[in-house]
Amino acid sequence: MPELPEVETTRRGITPYVIKQQVQNVVIRQASLRWPVPLNLKQKLKDQTIKDIQRRAKYLLFVTQAGHLIIHLGMSGSLRMVKNKAIPNKHDHIDIVFNKKTLRFHDPRRFGAVLWTSKDPLQHKLLKNLGPEPLSEEFTGAHLHQHAQGKKINVKPFIMNARIVVGVGNIYASESLFLSGIHPQRSAGRISLARYEILAENIKQVLTHAIELGGTTLRDFVREDGKPGYFANKLNVYNQTGMPCPICKNPIKVRTISQRSSFFCVQCQH
Ligand SMILES: [Zn+2]
Repeated sequence: MPELPEVETTRRGITPYVIKQQVQNVVIRQASLRWPVPLNLKQKLKDQTIKDIQRRAKYLLFVTQAGHLIIHLGMSGSLRMVKNKAIPNKHDHIDIVFNKKTLRFHDPRRFGAVLWTSKDPLQHKLLKNLGPEPLSEEFTGAHLHQHAQGKKINVKPFIMNARIVVGVGNIYASESLFLSGIHPQRSAGRISLARYEILAENIKQVLTHAIELGGTTLRDFVREDGKPGYFANKLNVYNQTGMPCPICKNPIKVRTISQRSSFFCVQCQH
């Protein structure tokens, strides 16, 4: 599943090809995504110039004079630049055609979204209740500590809740808890401010590192046959069941917590 670093890498990858470009055409081959693609999308977008691509959580916001195109990659979506008139493959659902290149949305499982708003996108129903960006100054250990007060929920689903902080997916939750020495099943309300400060720093660090790694795959966005630029991060615990813990060498354990596989070291995480 594309996580926040992949979405940010996508944003950086396509920006040079799309910015200041005028939309020549919009081709919708499949309008049945997670939510229906608006029937008037072509009418709204045609002739508009993309002024900027911003990101809020895992939503990409394409800024135009008339409004914002909102794209979410869902479980299996990707965006890439192809030559105009490149023959679409299976699951290539939407094309946004510019003068020189076409931005193509591909999504086998169709949990992604392509939407339009002429209002403030941050007030859109999908975005307005989102917590702070993890890499912003607003996201701190104090923020986590404050919102955890009185909560018995396990810390892992707590940090994966987008109302608390956005963009901490399963991989990054497991990795940041490991680096912080915090057991994923500890009650959120029973973790000290000092430990939350360490956890917030580690969340920022793992996400920043993943985005930096993504930078090396940017070229894939312009290759016609390129796979989306998702990258194999070097991981300490995620998907490492039975492998030696990088600190104590005990085998990494896996346990299902709130329906998600959670990887951790019983020796190092309390
Ligand atoms: Zn260990």
